Amino acid sequence: MGRIELVASAVAMVAVAMGAQAPQLSAADRTLAHDVLKELIETNTSHSVGSTTVAAEAMRKRLLGAGFAAKDMVAMGPDDRHGNLVVRYRGKAGTAIKPVLIIAHLDVVEAKREDWTSDPFQLVEKDGFYYGRGTQDMKNSDAAMVTSFMLLKRQGFVPDRDMILALTADEEGGTHNGVDWLLKNHRELVEAGFALNPDSGGLTTEKGKPSYLGVEATEKLYADFKLTVTNPGGHSSVPPKENAIYELAAALGRLSAYQFPFELNAVTKAYFEALAATKTGQIATDMKAITAEKPDMKAAARLAEDPVYNSTMRTTCVATILAAGHAPNALPQRAEANVNCRILPGHTPGEVRRVLEGVFAEPKLNVELDTVGISGGEDEVSVTPPPLNKEVFDALRAITERMWPGTPVIPEMETGASDSKITMAAGIPSYGFSGMGIDEDDDRAHGKDERLGVESYYAGVEFTYMYLKALTGK
Ligand SMILES: [Zn+2]
Repeated sequence: MGRIELVASAVAMVAVAMGAQAPQLSAADRTLAHDVLKELIETNTSHSVGSTTVAAEAMRKRLLGAGFAAKDMVAMGPDDRHGNLVVRYRGKAGTAIKPVLIIAHLDVVEAKREDWTSDPFQLVEKDGFYYGRGTQDMKNSDAAMVTSFMLLKRQGFVPDRDMILALTADEEGGTHNGVDWLLKNHRELVEAGFALNPDSGGLTTEKGKPSYLGVEATEKLYADFKLTVTNPGGHSSVPPKENAIYELAAALGRLSAYQFPFELNAVTKAYFEALAATKTGQIATDMKAITAEKPDMKAAARLAEDPVYNSTMRTTCVATILAAGHAPNALPQRAEANVNCRILPGHTPGEVRRVLEGVFAEPKLNVELDTVGISGGEDEVSVTPPPLNKEVFDALRAITERMWPGTPVIPEMETGASDSKITMAAGIPSYGFSGMGIDEDDDRAHGKDERLGVESYYAGVEFTYMYLKALTGK
């Protein structure tokens, strides 16, 4: 070993000892990441006038240029505006490990030029931010995945299993949801041991400083119930005891006093355990006490004062709309309400309706599930999460620690808003996270002037690249 090599190796050792991490992206890599993001943002994929097919085709061309075989990329969809792209990154020959599927939607929510400060379909850099529709949700992650696939391929990296990237249509609306369509029509293309979905979870920051990395690992089920009471009505000058408004109001009063039972699953238990480690005092003690073998119900009651913790521990149902009566001087013939429920995994709307009917204890009240958006009706069940996948979390904790030392990784349950709902229902355990840091108070997904910190973007790309390598590089 020569003198210069000795110095170089000493420098490297010091860097390792300090936990410092050499940047993984070169200037050329950053340019590539920028160009992919720009191309995606500037391809309109909104429902009204856009096309995910155009975006899918653009990404196919880039990947082809990086060395992916044409036969390993399939662009298809139900029609010519709702195309999806499925790319297979081939792993070691003869591997017995099931592929990892990555789902990422290409479509974006509508954005009107007149509402925005800049053109939403142009990537604009201003004051350290990238502005444009999709910079948060989720062309940032589409671009990070495509860029990482290209970089890894160019380096000759061979994963220990196939990695499948599905860039899809209609997550934000429309009737051609790409994940659903692929699972129903070409399951063999997307069959996997588990799925990653950078659309949910993610790195939450405070003034750019990481607070925690959330991983969405299960979802609650959304359900609306329509409540109706009808009476014969009549003149209000001679009121009988029977009154639709009183009957409905009394039933809703009983609901306000009711609490669904306490129940944790693998994900929410891990959530409280991880959160407890970041807290002090009574809250930390209570969180530990509810995750114990015999959960402490007094601790649960104290934590339930916080609506977020409460909704994590139980199914919730709340009155959201009320309408009744038709004239100031007439008895109400009809009183109606909407009750919105967020149902814990493992339970069905039918089961919740029966509980509600018992709570209302009003035989005249009709309770009906609004089936819009619930394909399985009363029997639909949000799948109970399997135990957290060790491989997924080991790689995640390692890379998070390398990039943002000390930042906790916290499993979360969300409220049924992402495509993970579809993959999980299809029996593919799904985990939602990304490394794109967004300040808690700067969530602009679906809103105007959507933006992402420039350095958050490149850190997110770097995180994606390193994560895929750590997960499949054993
Ligand atoms: Zn999204």
